Amino acid sequence: MTEIWVLAECSAGGVEPVSFELLGEARRLARKLDARVAVLVLGDHVENEIGILAHYGAETVYVIQDSRLRHYDPELICTSIGELCTLHKPSLVLFPATSTGSDAAVRLSVSYDWPLVPRCVQFRVHGRDIEMVRTFAHHKIHGVMTAAGGEPRLATVEPDILGLQQADHGCRAEVVFVPVITPKQRQIDVCGFIPGNPRELDLREAEIIIAVGRGMGSQENLRLVEDLADVIGASIGCTRAVVDLDWLTHSAQIGQTGTTVRPRLYLACGISGATQHTIGMKDADTILAINTDRGAPIFNIVDLGLVADVNQILPLLTKHCRQECEGT
Ligand SMILES: Cc1cc2nc3c(=O)[nH]c(=O)nc-3n(C[C@H](O)[C@H](O)[C@H](O)COP(=O)(O)OP(=O)(O)OC[C@H]3O[C@@H](n4cnc5c(N)ncnc54)[C@H](O)[C@@H]3O)c2cc1C
Repeated sequence: MTEIWVLAECSAGGVEPVSFELLGEARRLARKLDARVAVLVLGDHVENEIGILAHYGAETVYVIQDSRLRHYDPELICTSIGELCTLHKPSLVLFPATSTGSDAAVRLSVSYDWPLVPRCVQFRVHGRDIEMVRTFAHHKIHGVMTAAGGEPRLATVEPDILGLQQADHGCRAEVVFVPVITPKQRQIDVCGFIPGNPRELDLREAEIIIAVGRGMGSQENLRLVEDLADVIGASIGCTRAVVDLDWLTHSAQIGQTGTTVRPRLYLACGISGATQHTIGMKDADTILAINTDRGAPIFNIVDLGLVADVNQILPLLTKHCRQECEGT
């Protein structure tokens, strides 16, 4: 029977939501193609992630668990996935278009000569064919592609586009443990990992975001936010008003015409809470806001709100966090 596979993206916090988006799409395609859905999950301790993948549509979970997969090792991952694909011959494999998902898809495509369509945002079924719609030029143009070069076809999928489908907590999956496969000849050795500067992270990957709005008063006052961000390891985002004022660039803009983020902690500083902004951050795990106006709409969606002047509160917060970090 035809199979559609998804590569799950896992981090220290568990399975990343993009994996559930891809599973939802795989399930939708599988219904039309009378196919089965399987998910690949790789890591050093991934046994806790198996159940939730079934709830989002995986009928089979292939688990490749090995201490060497604690961090992304491109050759181990590609050889292991490549051999499994060669054995089971899935028709389509969906990868999240994240840094690791894209890297793995490109390596597999080159190593095994499998067709790859990157940055897909939509899939359409015509008979037994799948059309893949991908983006070009920062979403300005969409291209419709089919992959004729044999199976499996590989596709990377943009996060936050397809949306999450409802989980079914009653679903169970067949679980297949598969050994990691070491490449015959190593070309790359992974020597270690250096944590990145949160300020340079793609906001979609940030765990903590301090977002600034027009209420910061001036570009010079952003220094107060940078000080706090350095102490707590936060990334900095902003509203469109801040981009329009040229205080920050569009890559920092969160919202309808910016980036959609889902950090563990979101601190909104001097942000009114217009829906065009909140649509891009409302799913953060915890939302804090500082605003002088107690009637500001942002307070309708916060876990904790502070009616105060950001420029007075931020230096106090930075001092307190610095003391906490230094244990004094
Ligand atoms: C088609 C369209 C798309 C859009 N897309 C986006 C988008 O992607 N992202 C986005 O953010 N916006 C977007 N907008 C704009 C959006 O509607 C709002 O105008 C914008 O989000 C407001 O930004 P702001 O909260 O920084 O500014 P304001 O609305 O001006 O709010 C400033 C806030 O700061 C508070 N404040 C003032 N001084 C202080 C102080 N000293 N301390 C604490 N608080 C203070 C005020 O009480 C106020 O609530 C879009 C608009 C349109 C029409």
